[in-house]
Amino acid sequence: MIKLHDKYFKPFLSEKEILKAVQKIADEIAVDYKDETPIFVGVLNGAFMFVADFLKAYQHPCEVSFVKLSSYRGLTSTGIVETLLDVPENIEGRSIIILEDIIDTGHTLQELVHLFSNTNAKEFKIASLFHKPDIYKGEYAIDYVGIEIPNKFIVGYGLDYKELGRNLREVYQLNQQHMINLVLFGKPGAGKGTQASFLKEKYNLKHISTGDVFRYNIKNGTELGTLAKSYIDKGDLVPDEVTIKMLEDEVDKNPDASGFIFDGFPRTTAQAEALDIFLQSKDMKINATIALEANDEVLIQRLLERGKVSGRPDDQDEEKIRNRFDEYNEKTAPLKDYYEDMAKFQSVNGIGSVAEITERLKKVIDSL
Ligand code: AMP
Repeated sequence: MIKLHDKYFKPFLSEKEILKAVQKIADEIAVDYKDETPIFVGVLNGAFMFVADFLKAYQHPCEVSFVKLSSYRGLTSTGIVETLLDVPENIEGRSIIILEDIIDTGHTLQELVHLFSNTNAKEFKIASLFHKPDIYKGEYAIDYVGIEIPNKFIVGYGLDYKELGRNLREVYQLNQQHMINLVLFGKPGAGKGTQASFLKEKYNLKHISTGDVFRYNIKNGTELGTLAKSYIDKGDLVPDEVTIKMLEDEVDKNPDASGFIFDGFPRTTAQAEALDIFLQSKDMKINATIALEANDEVLIQRLLERGKVSGRPDDQDEEKIRNRFDEYNEKTAPLKDYYEDMAKFQSVNGIGSVAEITERLKKVIDSL
């Protein structure tokens, strides 16, 4: 185990496995290009080590150059890409092969394709040492891949966590053992969102509210938003397939998180089971489900008050609110037993001042 800044990482790929993958890419490219002189273009900073070992493995005429884009700030991809070092000159009529250390969502790749599509190179190919097919969203097929890896945050062999770890000869993955994952449970209006915003700061967790993600999609007129709107406006639950997929995407967007607060998910047994399977596949688990308890009459008053400022149609009409409670009683309440059977269920009194309730929650979390 190694520590970089605040996080722990454990060994994932040995130097030998990495060099074997580098050799494999070099051999494949040699078959295709040994009769010409391609220009290899490394993508800085991450690919410097891959480029060096690749060139040692590729013993045919070739040239090498670099580009530099910037898309990562710390661990998370912002999706914003700037060009810091531009495409090489004199590439007219030449075959260009990009050497990338890792392709995950494909944002950087999209920008690279765009950069080179404006040139008069003869041909443009992509080779990536690592590839995360689970989260790749690009349309461009990657021509040469060294090793396909699951969506884990990795460092070493050129890859960094906040600039540390690039000089490691092996690849390490983030150790998830120190993670805390919480489900905030409770009826609409119980204060899950309010409390989550305090807890995420205190424990450095990523807050995922499925209701918020749906509303964001409705506001932006996405396909998902259009689909969800008809259910949400009536106070019905959105179908499981849609909600589960959306939740998994949100988790996948944050491979670096120190833990998650799930707010408004799971709301059905099928969702709870899917969440367990999904987390297990990532070496993660739910540590606790904490229910905020309050009676219906208090909740209805809270929701109607909130409806005046939030503008949410499902908060403004008592009948819709009652329908949300019915959905809860029928589909969500059984989850109490589901988590109790695993000794993961804790109740907290949800009536009192916001600060009082936060204190009660902290006590439970600190005891985990
Ligand atoms: P919330 O903001 O959590 O009260 O959610 C608002 C609405 O979004 C709910 O009434 C449902 O229509 C929908 N929704 C949110 N989370 C889920 C979920 N886990 N499963 C199904 N529907 C959901």
